[in-house]
Amino acid sequence: MTSAHTDADVDIRGLGKRYGSATDGVQAVSDVSIHISSGEFVAIVGASGCGKSTVLRILAGFESATEGSLAVGGTPITGPGPDRGVVFQDYGLFPWLTVRENIAYGPRRRRLSRSRVAELADTFTSTVGLDRFASRYPGELSGGMQQRVAIARVLANEPKVLLMDEPFGALDALTRSDLQAELKRIHVETRTTVVFVTHSIEEAVFLADRVVVMTGGASHGVPGHISRIVDINLPDQRDITSPAFNEYKREISDLVHGITDHV
Ligand code: ADP
Ligand code: MG
Repeated sequence: MTSAHTDADVDIRGLGKRYGSATDGVQAVSDVSIHISSGEFVAIVGASGCGKSTVLRILAGFESATEGSLAVGGTPITGPGPDRGVVFQDYGLFPWLTVRENIAYGPRRRRLSRSRVAELADTFTSTVGLDRFASRYPGELSGGMQQRVAIARVLANEPKVLLMDEPFGALDALTRSDLQAELKRIHVETRTTVVFVTHSIEEAVFLADRVVVMTGGASHGVPGHISRIVDINLPDQRDITSPAFNEYKREISDLVHGITDHV
């Protein structure tokens, strides 16, 4: 198991993103600033179009910011890099490789020794509970199991930061709650820094140390921006039926809907 990196903090300062040209483009987000400590789990929630995916894609280096600065472990982000692992809603697995080969793919590409590749593949196949399915092909697995492979494949690259955009959005409710519990456990064990985008408030409160609430967006006539950052002071083991849990859900729901209501 990887241990927490001490240099895996994420610093986002004054981030803005304009799509299109300076004159007839759209200012999608503006003035987004967050400092995420090494090992922290931060969720970003907000209504559709408020700019969550934009922030995540810029962190991933797939898109560039038009204003502000971003850094991981003090190093400015200039493009995609092995320090960041990305998991999207669609699993993006290689259908012609087995589960284990998919997980071994990154370590193999990094030209690690054969024994180290095997060790990482075994470790992360087992981390996501797929030992018995190691020789199966993605097409033979359920959506939940494919998403487990996608997570293991990214973890096997030992990123400092895990970036996830609605990773469980396509799963049925039961599978989704299994995967949430699994991700929570993996985070507690590895203390990898996680930035997790979701529009499920419950998912955010279940998983995160802090929840960043974004509002606005082009359809509201104001760029997407941070409305509030809520600290979740709950133990790692969370009871979604507890009054404290539901109080957080209500607070965040009010924040998410507050602006929408009077626009
Ligand atoms: P969210 O993930 O919160 O739903 P997005 O980051 O996808 O929001 O989108 C934020 C805003 O930016 C939306 O108004 C969207 O239409 C716009 N947008 C996103 N991607 C592009 C793009 N590639 N080109 C132009 N506009 C975009
Ligand atoms: Mg999105």
